[in-house]
Amino acid sequence: MEATFLKRAFGIGEGWEYRSTKYVGGGVEVHVKAKREGIRCPKCEADHIALRGTRERRIRTVPIGFKPVTIVAHVPRCQCRQCGEFFDSSPLLPREGDPTLIALNDLLQVSAGS
Ligand SMILES: [Zn+2]
Repeated sequence: MEATFLKRAFGIGEGWEYRSTKYVGGGVEVHVKAKREGIRCPKCEADHIALRGTRERRIRTVPIGFKPVTIVAHVPRCQCRQCGEFFDSSPLLPREGDPTLIALNDLLQVSAGS
C-alpha cells in the first residue's frame, strides 16, 4: 500500500501520510501520521511550530470479515513559537460510518485476498 492508497481510501489524503499496517490480536491497525507541512497556530496563524510529542487517535471502522479494523492516527502535539499556544495538529479524519472508511475497507479486503 502506498500514498495513493490513503488518498483513495480517505478521500482527504491531504495532511496525512500512510505509515504501516499492523495485524494485532486478530485485528488490523492502519497507522497514519499527520504531515508537518502546513501546520499553523490556530491562535495567531504563525507557522513557527515546535513539536511536543504525539498523541494517538483511534478510529474504529467496520470489520473485515471478523477482523476489527482501526485507523491509528498519530497526531502531533504542537506549540507555537510565537505566542506559546499548545494545540494538536489534526487534519480532518473520516468519522465512523463515513463512506471513505467503507472505501478503505474495500481496499484492505482486496489486499488481504491477494
Ligand atoms: Zn501562535
